[in-house]
Amino acid sequence: MSYRGRFAPSPTGPLHAGSLVAALASWLDARAHGGQWLVRIEDVDGPRCVPGAERQIIDQLAACGLHSDAPVIRQSSRGSTYQAALERLLQQGDAYPCACSRQDIELALLAAGTPRERHQAATYPGTCRPERGGLLGRPARAWRFRVAGLGHVEWRDRRLGAQSQDVASAVGDFIVRRADGLWAYQLAVVVDDAEQGITHVVRGEDLADNTPRQILLQQALGLPTPRYLHTPLVMGANGEKLSKQNGAHALDLGNPLAALNVAAQALGLPASASDDLGSALGHWIGAWAERWPA
Ligand code: GLU
Repeated sequence: MSYRGRFAPSPTGPLHAGSLVAALASWLDARAHGGQWLVRIEDVDGPRCVPGAERQIIDQLAACGLHSDAPVIRQSSRGSTYQAALERLLQQGDAYPCACSRQDIELALLAAGTPRERHQAATYPGTCRPERGGLLGRPARAWRFRVAGLGHVEWRDRRLGAQSQDVASAVGDFIVRRADGLWAYQLAVVVDDAEQGITHVVRGEDLADNTPRQILLQQALGLPTPRYLHTPLVMGANGEKLSKQNGAHALDLGNPLAALNVAAQALGLPASASDDLGSALGHWIGAWAERWPA
């Protein structure tokens, strides 16, 4: 097996203590297995991207001694590849256009006696499925992957162990191209991981429940499923996951070794007393290899 891993940040802000954990873990896993590590900029959601954040992230990674082994790719330049994947799904009957607005979905769920629970995303009720008449003359807004009948996915996460999700009841037919014309993360990530030959995905645990949707897309597109390892999340003082949305500070890279030591600790690795970046990273590669065989 030739190992290929990746770190795939969305440039919605600079790296913070939480995202450094995912970056370091994915890099250590690649190095511990003699593999390559690629950086991919996930800028499909243009309106959420912050000018300058990509440069900042790359500079922050470099300050920590983490360098992509291949030129960095950007999702914003890959629309035609995502379009080809969508066309294949449409041809196979695995995707369909949808005319429903958010309000249409809420009303349909209400009418079916299964209203959306507060703070939960709505499970799409299947209104525009072809067997229910499709668009019925309404214009397409978004495109959905057809989960119906495929719902139950089981997989093994290297850290979390056996996992399963009934995608049909948890999320229903999910969006692969959004009403605003943007590509959905689920489709872009699956197409890119396959095209870049990614064998191992190491990323934050907040993304674990996306994995079953990605596995369904991989299967429908005839793509291999990488191995997954979801890393522990770093919690902020308020007990919530540290994220750009809840005000996590950009990493202060005046002292990259201090930032890396904190990230290593979050990953359960021993602290490094070294004041040399290369030897600290080498120390963690050894510790990682023992802890997480591929
Ligand atoms: N772009 C996603 C994020 O920054 C990560 C996607 C992934 O690793 O699959 O949260």
